[in-house]
Amino acid sequence: MRFADVIVDISHEDLDRTFQYRIPEEFEKDAQIGAPVVIPFGAGNRQIKGYIVGVSEEPKIDPARIKPLVSVSKKGLAIESRIIELAEIMRRMYGGTLNDALKTVSPVKQKIKPQVSKTVVLTDEKAARYFLEEALRRNYKAKARLLEELLRSGRIEYEILVNKLNIARKTIEDYKDNGVLEIQETRLYRGSRSTSPGEAKVELNAEQRAAVDTVTADIDAGKRGVYLLKGVTGSGKTEVYMSVIEAVVARGEQVIMLIPEIALTYQTVRRFSARFGERVSFMHSRLSDGEKYDQYLRAKNGDTDIMIGPRSALFTPFMKIGLIIIDEEHENSYKSENVPKYHTRELAAEYAKILGATLILGSATPSLESYYRAQKGEYKLLELTKRAGNAALPKVHIVDMRDEMKKGNMSMFSRKLRALIEDRLEKKQQIMLFINRRGYAGFVSCRACGEALRCPHCAVSLTAHMAGKQVGRLVCHYCGYETEMPKLCPKCGSKYIAAFGTGTQKVEEYVRREFPNARVLRMDADTTRDKQGHERVLAAFSNDEADILVGTQMIVKGHDFARVTLMGIIAADLSLNATDFRAGERTFELLAQAAGRSGRAGTDGEVVIQTYNPDHYAVKAAATEDYEEFYENEIAYREMLSYPPASNLMATLLTSDDEAEADSCAAFLYELMSAGLEAVDAAEEVSLIGPSKCSVEKIKDRYRRIIYAKSSDYGLLVKCKDLIEARIKDDVAFEKCNVQFDFNPMNGY
Ligand code: ADP
Ligand code: ZN
Ligand code: ZN
Repeated sequence: MRFADVIVDISHEDLDRTFQYRIPEEFEKDAQIGAPVVIPFGAGNRQIKGYIVGVSEEPKIDPARIKPLVSVSKKGLAIESRIIELAEIMRRMYGGTLNDALKTVSPVKQKIKPQVSKTVVLTDEKAARYFLEEALRRNYKAKARLLEELLRSGRIEYEILVNKLNIARKTIEDYKDNGVLEIQETRLYRGSRSTSPGEAKVELNAEQRAAVDTVTADIDAGKRGVYLLKGVTGSGKTEVYMSVIEAVVARGEQVIMLIPEIALTYQTVRRFSARFGERVSFMHSRLSDGEKYDQYLRAKNGDTDIMIGPRSALFTPFMKIGLIIIDEEHENSYKSENVPKYHTRELAAEYAKILGATLILGSATPSLESYYRAQKGEYKLLELTKRAGNAALPKVHIVDMRDEMKKGNMSMFSRKLRALIEDRLEKKQQIMLFINRRGYAGFVSCRACGEALRCPHCAVSLTAHMAGKQVGRLVCHYCGYETEMPKLCPKCGSKYIAAFGTGTQKVEEYVRREFPNARVLRMDADTTRDKQGHERVLAAFSNDEADILVGTQMIVKGHDFARVTLMGIIAADLSLNATDFRAGERTFELLAQAAGRSGRAGTDGEVVIQTYNPDHYAVKAAATEDYEEFYENEIAYREMLSYPPASNLMATLLTSDDEAEADSCAAFLYELMSAGLEAVDAAEEVSLIGPSKCSVEKIKDRYRRIIYAKSSDYGLLVKCKDLIEARIKDDVAFEKCNVQFDFNPMNGY
C-alpha cells in the first residue's frame, strides 16, 4: 500500500508540515509528487485542497487511522511536480520551511478573472465632426477631447479614455448610442505588449558565431551543460542569446531568460518583441496580480515560448524547458534576501540538471563564483572580447581627488571632468554622471561634537533629503522613520549640523547651477517609484530630452544609449568602504559596467573615474576592463581568507527584541554547532566565527547577532543548519528569537 505526504493549502502558515493519506487503488497512477489532491481534513473531515509532496510505502502512524485521499486532479501534473521538487531543493540548500519554499516557487497565487480589453472605434466620421463642433461651441471639454482623439487616431483603448483623458463612461456610451463609435472587446492577456514588426537581424561576428555554434552543437549532440558567456560591455551578448533561443525554440522547447529587474527596459522589450513577436512574454514585479496570472497562463497553455523576467520567472510553468539564460549573472538581485535566501544561479543550475536543459550565464564582469567554476572546467567559457560593430572601448581617465584638493579644487568635479562636460555640451552629445552610493548614506552629523544622527529604531544613520517634497527631512532607509532636520545638535547644542556627502540630488543641483543651460534628468529610487518610473526617465533620455543623466547604479545597468560619449563616475571608491568581503568585487563591477556605458555605438567614448584610491586593483582593472587582472588579485585574497568561492560561508543571523536574550541565544547556537561538529569529528573542517554584533546592530527595534561558519564542504554547513533548525523548533527559549540562514551571503551583516 502506498501513502502520500500532502501539504495543505500552501498559503496557510500554521500548517507547515505534511499529512499522510492513503492512496486508494483507483488513484495509484495519478498520485504522483506534485499532484493537486482533495483530502478530508480535521475532525469534521472537511474537504480541502492540497498537494502531494512525497510518496512512500511507510505509514507514519497506525495505517488503520490513515484516511484515504478523496480525489486526485490530473491537471498540471508534470509541471507542478518539477517545481515542487525545486522547492524541496531550495529548502534543503538554504533552510526555512517547505511552506516558505513553496510560496517562493509559486509566484502566482490564485486564479484571477480573465480580462477583456475594450477598444473604442470611430464608426461615423461625419457625425463625429458634427458633434465635435457642437461640443466646442458649448465648451464641453471632455466631449471635445474624446472626439478630437477619435478623429485623430481612429481607435483608442477604453481604459485610456477613462483613466488618462478623464472621460466619463456615460459620455462614451452616449456617443455609442448616437452611432458615432463602437466598443470592441477582445480577451486580453494582461501584461502582454503589442509588438512591432520584425527588425533586421544583425550578422553575427566571428566571436558571436563561435559562441552560438558551441552551444547549439552541444545541444544537437545531446549535451546539456552550463556556459559562461563573458563578453565586454556592448560585445553583443544579447544577440548571442537570441540566436541560441531561436535554435532551442525551433526544437519545440521553451526558454526562460532572467534579467535583473531594472534591466527590463523598453529597449529589451523592443528587441525581443521585434525578433520573437507574440511568442515572448515579459514578467516583472510591477505587473498586477492579474497581469502576472495571465502571463503565467500563457506559458502554461503553450501560447508563448520565451519568458523574460526577474528571478521569479525561473518558476514559469513551461512544459519543456530547454534553455535557461541568466543575463548579468553577477547581479545582486539574483540573491533572494527573504527566507529561503536562495541564489538564483545555483538554483537554476540544479533545475537545469533536473530538466536536462542548457544554462547560459552572461556577464561582462562575471561573479567570482562563475569564473572560478569556469576555470575549474565545470562551466564552459565562451568569450566575446570585442565590442560589436567594432565600436572602440572608451578612453578612461583616473583622477586622484587628493591631487585636486592639493591644487585647490574643492568642488565635486575634477578639472578633467568639468572640461569634458563642457566639451560634450558644446558638441550636443550626451553625458551620464554616476554616483556610486553603495554602502554609503548622505548622513547628517555635527561638526562640533561629531555626533551623527541615527534612527531611534535601527542602529543606522539617517539620510537627509535635500530636494523635492521631503526637503529638510531625515529618513531611515531601513524602517521608513522620518523626522524634521533639527536646527541644533541634539547632543551638544551646536548649530554646525549639516548633511555631508554626495547624493544624487546634490549632484543634480550642483550640475544645474554650474551648467545652467544643460537639461538635466535624475534617476534614482526617488524618481522611479511609480509603475513606469524607470521607463519614463530612460525614454526621456533616449529621446534626447536631456543632456545629462545623473543617477545611482540604476543608470549603469544594461542600457544602451548611442549618444552618450562621456561617463563621469563621482566617488568611485565609496563602495570599497562597505564592510563585507565582496566590496572589491562590487566596486570593480560597478566601475567596469559604468565605464562600458560610454560610446556604445561607434562614437569614441570617454570616462572619468574620480577616486581617492587610484592604486586599488579594483579601480585600476575596471579602468581597462581587465577582468583577468582583477580576478587574479581578488581570488588570491579570497583563497587566503577562505571566502567564497574558494570556500563556503554560512551566516546564521539571530534577532530578538531583547538584547540579553539575543546574546545568550547566539552563544547557545555557537555552542550547539561547535559540539555538533565535534560529535561527527568535523570540528577541524569548519571554522566558526562569532557570535558578534552585526554592523547594523539593531533594526526596527530588534537586536541582531551573527555567527559565521566557513568550510570547503557545503554539506557540513547544511548539517549545522539542520542541527539548529531541529534543536530550536520547539524550544521555548527561542520563542522570541528569529533565526535565519544565509549561504554565501552577498551583503555584510
Ligand atoms: P551586450 O548585451 O553584450 O551589452 P548587445 O547585444 O546589446 O551587447 O549589443 C550592443 C550593440 O551592438 C547593440 O546595439 C546591438 O544591436 C549591436 N550589435 C550586436 N551584435 C552585432 C553585430 N554582429 N553586428 C552589428 N551590430 C551588432
Ligand atoms: Zn554636536
Ligand atoms: Zn529605522
